[in-house]
Amino acid sequence: MRSYLLVISVLCLTASCSNELSKVHQRLVLVDTHNDLLTSQTMDGKDVSQRLTTGHSDIPRLKEGGVDVQFFSVWTGEKARNKEGFFSDAMEQIDSLEFIAIRNVDKMKLTSGYSDVKKILRQKKLVGLIGVEGGHMIEEDLQKLETLYNRGMSYLTLTHNNSVSWASSARDETERAETLSQKGLNDFGREVVKRLNERGIMIDLSHVGEKTFYDVLEITTKPVILSHSSVYAISPHFRNVTDDQIKAVAKNNGVICVNFYSSFLNAEFNEAYEKLKGPEGKTIKDSVQGLYADRKDKVKYWEEYVAGILERYRPSYTSIADHIDYIVKLVGVNYVGVGADLDGVDSLPVGFDDATDYPLITGELMKRGYSIADIKKIMGKNVLRVLKANTQ
Ligand SMILES: [Zn+2]
Repeated sequence: MRSYLLVISVLCLTASCSNELSKVHQRLVLVDTHNDLLTSQTMDGKDVSQRLTTGHSDIPRLKEGGVDVQFFSVWTGEKARNKEGFFSDAMEQIDSLEFIAIRNVDKMKLTSGYSDVKKILRQKKLVGLIGVEGGHMIEEDLQKLETLYNRGMSYLTLTHNNSVSWASSARDETERAETLSQKGLNDFGREVVKRLNERGIMIDLSHVGEKTFYDVLEITTKPVILSHSSVYAISPHFRNVTDDQIKAVAKNNGVICVNFYSSFLNAEFNEAYEKLKGPEGKTIKDSVQGLYADRKDKVKYWEEYVAGILERYRPSYTSIADHIDYIVKLVGVNYVGVGADLDGVDSLPVGFDDATDYPLITGELMKRGYSIADIKKIMGKNVLRVLKANTQ
């Protein structure tokens, strides 16, 4: 919040100017397509009904930041949390999201379709939607997809970093293609796409490999989203999208929602991060850890060392607007949105500490000369258009 006030005072020194920003920000419908608080806060036993001192978001901070519509990510990793498996993990997270909604009945409501979203917005409540992140959670079973749909799934991210038997991921296509038995969609993958289209569940192409990406665009009858990906030309990370991919999404009338992770926003940060993870980092790690006998001290010192190095490369929050600008210049203003990935990333850009800093983005777009109508599209209307096209 402090940085929000700071930027307003830098942007404009008059009270009327800061009033203008808060008026614009409050009036627009802010839709964020990706938030991991279910995994990072709720599964950790934290009560997101309260304002927390950890992580990037909770119900009070989402409200304070002016978030009107939040897609909550239902996610489990390559190794399931429950012994019953991935699908059971997804059910558990949806249960917990429902409990959160019940506990905050005066502040938020869960839904799945476009018309209901509009209704809840009129009640001035936070609209909660479910995004299931990773096709592994349907366990190769269309009946399980149906169950997730009946429980409110609004989008399915076809893969996470791990490929599924029916769709290959961006990580696997780029970093370990030799492990893949097939690339792109297979017959079952095409069945999944068809069923998602029929049910009006948005197809999320963040995390999928290029082959899967183009295979989907060839057959989908509805516009797609990328719930949390940024621009490859600015930061060449396999999770970001190339110019050709951006053009293909625009042609499909879909939307790319910019991710706020420092690695996806900034190439230098990403390079430093990769170095620390690689062999060079291992050598440094061994030498700095040699200074400590206790294991706990070793871990703590290494974490502090890494944080210190990365801090030097952390981009400014204005880099979020650089990615938005890039997409707008390439294909126009109708195909970009925001999917910050709050509580799913270990580094956010300088100035953007948590959900309460969302007004900074509106302020930066105003500063760059975007019209109010265009800012409204970027901050939410474009995603709502895609949701409407899928669910109506
Ligand atoms: Zn993700």
